[in-house]
Amino acid sequence: MNANKNSLLILGGGLSGLLAAWHLRRPGREIEVWEASAAVGGWAQTLSWPGPQGEPGFLERGPQSLRVARGGALDRLLRDLDIATRPAGPKGPRWLGKGGVRHPSPATLAGLLRAPGLGLGEQLRMLAEPFIPMGTGAGESLHAFFARRLGEGFARELLPALVAGVLAAPPERLGLEAWPPLKRLEARGGLLIGSLRSGAPRTLLPAGGTGALALGLATRLGCVFTDRPARALEALPDGRWRIHGDGPIREADAVVLALPARVVADLLRPVAPEAAALLHAIPRLDLRVWHSRHAMVQGWERGFGLLIHPPEGRGLLGAVSLAADDPRGVPGLLQLRAYVGGAYPADPALDAWPGVLQALRRWLPELPDPLQVREEACPEAFPLLGPGHGARVDRLLEALPSGLHWIGAARFGPGLPDLAEGIEAWAQGGIEG
Ligand SMILES: Cc1cc2nc3c(=O)[nH]c(=O)nc-3n(C[C@H](O)[C@H](O)[C@H](O)COP(=O)(O)OP(=O)(O)OC[C@H]3O[C@@H](n4cnc5c(N)ncnc54)[C@H](O)[C@@H]3O)c2cc1C
Repeated sequence: MNANKNSLLILGGGLSGLLAAWHLRRPGREIEVWEASAAVGGWAQTLSWPGPQGEPGFLERGPQSLRVARGGALDRLLRDLDIATRPAGPKGPRWLGKGGVRHPSPATLAGLLRAPGLGLGEQLRMLAEPFIPMGTGAGESLHAFFARRLGEGFARELLPALVAGVLAAPPERLGLEAWPPLKRLEARGGLLIGSLRSGAPRTLLPAGGTGALALGLATRLGCVFTDRPARALEALPDGRWRIHGDGPIREADAVVLALPARVVADLLRPVAPEAAALLHAIPRLDLRVWHSRHAMVQGWERGFGLLIHPPEGRGLLGAVSLAADDPRGVPGLLQLRAYVGGAYPADPALDAWPGVLQALRRWLPELPDPLQVREEACPEAFPLLGPGHGARVDRLLEALPSGLHWIGAARFGPGLPDLAEGIEAWAQGGIEG
């Protein structure tokens, strides 16, 4: 790679780095991807978890499925990589835990109209959503956005559980940047009309789990090196960059930093201190995820989803189960995962499985004793993109030296569809070393 005029080193073999390599590949351009760990995919990995009798079984480190908009970047990618998919669950019951009781999820219209804590006036206010004019969006929190569009009642009573279940943080602390499709829907006529116009995204499961996406990309790219952490960046007098690993050293015309924001901040500190400080200031969320297998419960065969109104969860945000026929599970068993923490202080009892099981049974009293349990801690799982994050990103991009590029969840939003759309558009803009 050393003497090549058009050489590119991508640091980070999570989906961001792999997508960058995929979209930036050109005839004559030399690309290498360096991944610090032994496997590609970052959070989007499907891990082996054999059943109680050693049966084949799996768990997802991160996303359990993909939300794929027809004609969107993820849709194109799945087709380009020729990855087979099937519709994913849960298609069984979906609940909101609130007031100590399980209610139908307000994510459906029927559930919305029967949602707990809302008076008639607040329900009518929600129905007025299509008539609410578009806001400026600048610096608006998710709470303010939903209060404006659907009313204070929705924002107070229902939104916290919905947002905790997706982004693990309170809606007051998150900006619209954390959920990029909202702005697009508003521009298309509002949440309801915009969704009808855009068509509901399909929830798909790639054959082999969501990790198949990273594996498919890495195999097709053929330039991805694992066990190769980047340790330092050095600016060369000719405008190129030297990258130091644990042994290997490379020089490249351009470097793409597709790493967690804190790691990017550490690498940038000696060469771009202002950008490093801006990145370091982005808060990060730690999440604890408990996976468990139980005897199947009648009525839950198609999977279920439970979101908990955060003040009542004491740090337990919700739980979701696989459908009984999901190829990742063990036939006949219920496979569950429960989320703890994020931006919410967790009751110390939730540090260990017995406390988690007790908290789950408050909402799911039918849940049998587990046959297997496994914790997958997710330190620094998500960046917390607060109100006004977009302005921080603009400053950060201005502070980056020429030839260095920064992408990832802290720039485009933590959802895989956000990353796929954002990185495809960014790569189309072209990057010159
Ligand atoms: C529990 C959980 C559930 C989630 N659920 C969903 C969901 O349902 N839907 C959804 O859309 N998204 C979900 N996400 C979010 C999504 O998985 C992530 O936002 C996305 O995978 C981030 O990809 P990335 O490549 O930007 O970062 P990462 O996945 O963090 O990848 C960064 C990579 O950089 C590597 N690295 C670190 N340091 C170095 C170094 N010095 N040198 C080289 N490499 C290095 C890391 O090993 C890692 O592989 C979930 C995430 C978690 C944790």
